[in-house]
Amino acid sequence: MRKSRVNQHKNNKLIIISSSIIMFLVVIVVGIYAYKDTLFPSTAGEQSVDTPPAVAQPNEMEENGEKPTTPQEERPEVIEVDAGGYRIETPEVIEPTYVDGILIANKKHPLPKDFNPGESPEARAAFEQMAMAAKEVGLELVAFSGFRSYDYQTTLYTNYVNRDGKEAADRYSARPGYSEHQTGLAFDIGENSRQDLWLTAEFGETPAGKWLVDNAHKYGFILRFPEGKEDVTGFMYESWHFRYLGVETAAKVKKSGLTLEEYLGVE
Ligand SMILES: [Zn+2]
Repeated sequence: MRKSRVNQHKNNKLIIISSSIIMFLVVIVVGIYAYKDTLFPSTAGEQSVDTPPAVAQPNEMEENGEKPTTPQEERPEVIEVDAGGYRIETPEVIEPTYVDGILIANKKHPLPKDFNPGESPEARAAFEQMAMAAKEVGLELVAFSGFRSYDYQTTLYTNYVNRDGKEAADRYSARPGYSEHQTGLAFDIGENSRQDLWLTAEFGETPAGKWLVDNAHKYGFILRFPEGKEDVTGFMYESWHFRYLGVETAAKVKKSGLTLEEYLGVE
C-alpha cells in the first residue's frame, strides 16, 4: 500500500516534469517559428506575407536603364501620348496652363494658336542683366533665339522634320503650339565668339555653359532641359535653352534640383 502510494507520487511528479518539458519545448518551437525570418534571415528563402516585395530604388533602376515607376494612385491623370511624346487627345479649346501662376508649355500642355504675347520685356531685361554679369568674368553671352510665334514654330519644325525626320525632330524641336519659345519667356543662349557651339551639348562643357548653370537662377532663369531628364521634360538635353521664371521661383527650382515639371508636379 505504502509502496504503491510512493509510486503514484513518483508518477505524478514524472507527469508534471514531462508536461513542463513538453510545454517548454512547445514554447521554444512556436517562438522559433514566429521569429524565423529574424533569426534566420539568410535561410528564409520565401518572403513572409506581410513583408512587401523588394522594390529597386529609382537610382538603381535608372542605372539599369529602366524608368522608375510611380504608383498609379499618385498620378491620377495619365495623359496618353504618341511616339513623339505629345498628348494624343488635346482639348477642343486649348487654354494656356498655369500652375501656381507659372505658365507651362510642353508636349502635354500646348498653347493656343493665337497665344502671341511677344518677348517678355521682364525676361529680356533679366537676360541683359545676366549678360552684363557674365561679361565681367569675360564671357559674352548672346540670346540668339527668343520669342517664336505659332506660325514661325510651324516653319521651323517643318524644316527640321524635312532635314532629320519626324522622330529625331521631336526630340529637339517642338511642334507648333508646344514650344516654350511661344511663351516669350525662353531664350536660346550661346557665346558670341562661339557660334559653332550654338545648339550643341558641347556648349554645356564650356566656361560660358557652366557659368550659366551655376548663375542663371540669380537672374531668374533655369536650364530647362537638363541631361537625363528627357522622359520628364520631353526633350533631350539642351545646354542652351533657358526659361525665365523670376528670381524667386528660379532659385527655388534650382535648389530643388528638379525639372520644372517635377517642381510643379505636372506632366
Ligand atoms: Zn530653345
